[in-house]
Amino acid sequence: MIKYCDLKEINNAFEPQLSQTVTESVMSGWYIRGEQVARFEKSFAEYCGCRYCIGTGNGLDALRVILCAYREMGIMEPGDEVIVPANTFIASILAIIEAGLKPVLCEPLNDTCNIDTTRIESLITERTRAIMPVHLYGLVADIDPINNIAKRYSLKVIEDAAQAHGAKYKGRRAGSLGDAAGFSFYPGKNLGALGDGGAITTDDGTLADVARSIANYGSKERYINEYKGINSRLDELQAAVLNTKLPHLDSDNEKRRAIARRYIGEIKNPHIALPPLSVEENHVYHIFAVMTPWRSLLQDHLRNKGVETLIHYPVPPHRQQALREYSHLQLPVTDRIHNEELSLPCNPVLSDEDVTRIIAAVNSFTP
Ligand SMILES: *Cc1c(COP(=O)(O)O)cnc(C)c1O
Repeated sequence: MIKYCDLKEINNAFEPQLSQTVTESVMSGWYIRGEQVARFEKSFAEYCGCRYCIGTGNGLDALRVILCAYREMGIMEPGDEVIVPANTFIASILAIIEAGLKPVLCEPLNDTCNIDTTRIESLITERTRAIMPVHLYGLVADIDPINNIAKRYSLKVIEDAAQAHGAKYKGRRAGSLGDAAGFSFYPGKNLGALGDGGAITTDDGTLADVARSIANYGSKERYINEYKGINSRLDELQAAVLNTKLPHLDSDNEKRRAIARRYIGEIKNPHIALPPLSVEENHVYHIFAVMTPWRSLLQDHLRNKGVETLIHYPVPPHRQQALREYSHLQLPVTDRIHNEELSLPCNPVLSDEDVTRIIAAVNSFTP
């Protein structure tokens, strides 16, 4: 069976440095807010082309802390609205709700699956304070029109970059394209830790300051609490792992692109739609998403041929029990994506033979 994502193999590629750095971290006796985190924050800010990076406990918290910081700064108030694509992973939406704000769901485009920028303006009200584009599947959202709208209406742009480490838009990296960005280092992400982790990137010094404090009990100085904060910090062990893996992110992303290039060039099946060929630096192929009305048949077929696939995601946020207040919305594009999406394996440890086998298996499918 070709696994969808073999995390053991993916991390094995970093041995023996990975074990060494973890051991060093254990032996250092310092586990929270130490040298490894400071080093990672500096490197990741530089990598993204940002002034500041703040480690957090996970990606959901990175987004939530940004929004809470804007509230503390007086830029957003409870009940203010944030426009977010309706087909995102639920974390983007939960972050908005947990910050006391109101998510306003926007349909995505049929082909890129990213937010449909032509629909954003009609969703803006006097309560709108921000747009949260999500670089879904690793493809950067169309940022220029988003920033233009944001400028005209004085809105913040907060990137959900949890799937797009290293992706570029006109030469600039995800994480540096709006006012602030949230990243996740969940093990399966393109830059993955050995557990949970996340980060905020921004050029805004005030936001960076307030966000860092909020993620640390609302405290800058020990036992002095300025804000009602939370405890969501990147820990030393995860930072040590990320310090080891970050220098290889670009070459890992290049391997994903090479696989995607083969899929797009060699999969020829009239029953299956491939993602649109994008300017390559725009896409880091966190997920290689194909679309077919015969999804479950295709998934069974591939399983029988020894290929594991996943669905991102089977149920859209507005149809989740947790978000039943959104169940009245008509979101046909979102529904179609959730009904038809199937993710093929696409990661740095797949061999050429694996990819050849996957392509042959996909090409031999008939509904
Ligand atoms: C993974 C992910 C998150 C959340 O990250 P966690 O670290 O799991 O909290 C948020 N948004 C998107 C689009 C994601 O894929």
